[in-house]
Amino acid sequence: MIYLDNNATAPLHPAARQAWLEAADQFVGNPSSPHRIGARAEAALARAREELAAHLGCDPFDLVWTSGATEASNSVFHHLSRIASPDAEVWISAVEHPCVLEAARYWFSKCRFIPVNANGQVKIDWLEAQLQKQRPALVAVMAANNETGVLQPWKQVHELCRRFGVLYFCDAVQWVGKLPGVGLGEIDFVSGSAHKFGGPKGVGFLKCNDGRFHPLLRGGLQEEGRRAGTENVPGILAMVAALRAREPFAAGSVLLDRLEWRAAVERELVRQIPGTEIVAEQAERLWNTICALMPQTECQGRWVVKLDRHGVAVSTGSACASGKEEPSHVLRAMGMTAEQAGRAIRFSSSWETTREEWEGALAAAARVQSSLAGITSG
Ligand code: PLP
Repeated sequence: MIYLDNNATAPLHPAARQAWLEAADQFVGNPSSPHRIGARAEAALARAREELAAHLGCDPFDLVWTSGATEASNSVFHHLSRIASPDAEVWISAVEHPCVLEAARYWFSKCRFIPVNANGQVKIDWLEAQLQKQRPALVAVMAANNETGVLQPWKQVHELCRRFGVLYFCDAVQWVGKLPGVGLGEIDFVSGSAHKFGGPKGVGFLKCNDGRFHPLLRGGLQEEGRRAGTENVPGILAMVAALRAREPFAAGSVLLDRLEWRAAVERELVRQIPGTEIVAEQAERLWNTICALMPQTECQGRWVVKLDRHGVAVSTGSACASGKEEPSHVLRAMGMTAEQAGRAIRFSSSWETTREEWEGALAAAARVQSSLAGITSG
């Protein structure tokens, strides 16, 4: 099977597996316990915190371990709802992941969407003009989009927020482990998730620089009172080990190779399957993500099912088979019609994906196209 759904979740990296097993054996104590066995686990967590802080460029104290990015997002909006005035607004980009969109809507009654252009990038001019008139409690703009791979101008957003004295939350889930983390640590709130870059599922982090953080989870003084619950020591050490394994790739020449591979696959996809369109083709995008609008068929869900039968796992934003899911809000925000959004499929590779696998995926796509063309004409 060729696995091209790494933006949904990536397989466990061998270094992460090794770190998890070693930690489960060596750090058996509860990091909060007063004895030496507990202290050893606490010391291992402190080392992991320092390593992640160095990767992001922040103070180790600013990092809170979480169960993943969904918890981190909810924690941010919950905290803000406790410190902001009752009529405060939060502004979130129209292409955020549901864990940001829905957390914002749940904790705040006034949410405004920051519009994106046809390439899916937030309109910086719009944001600047609005900030001149009004200051929200928070601006949330992700680093890289999970559906399209489009990179957001998060450094510019950060600069604007700093200039206008507004807090900034950046969901960096799809960025961390794929691109260098430098600079993220300067942002007020940043979330990350281990299972997107080869760490285990159910572990992540929140970077927050507010020492008076109001915890979402209560019932313990762990994480300096910012998140109750015994820390997942093996999971955290495995997450940091996965990131360590990714770092040389994300900063090196391999990155350029992967961008070239992506461009070559896109060219072939369009050549072999006429009518295919690459979403945000001209925008800066993650090296691993191709979102393509496939030629019209009666149900684009067929593409995913048929590619699966041909041994290729990909993903789609909406599923017409269920008849319930809405077309992708990300593609709709970029100005696509529901019909166009319904034709999107996403190929997302990992650092381990080979050229041969990409070629295999292309060949499978061409076979699916022939079979669908047969159905349409037959
Ligand atoms: N943010 C983005 C951009 C994502 O792609 C995902 C996962 O799909 C999440 C947040 C949620 O992460 P987690 O699975 O750690 O809750």
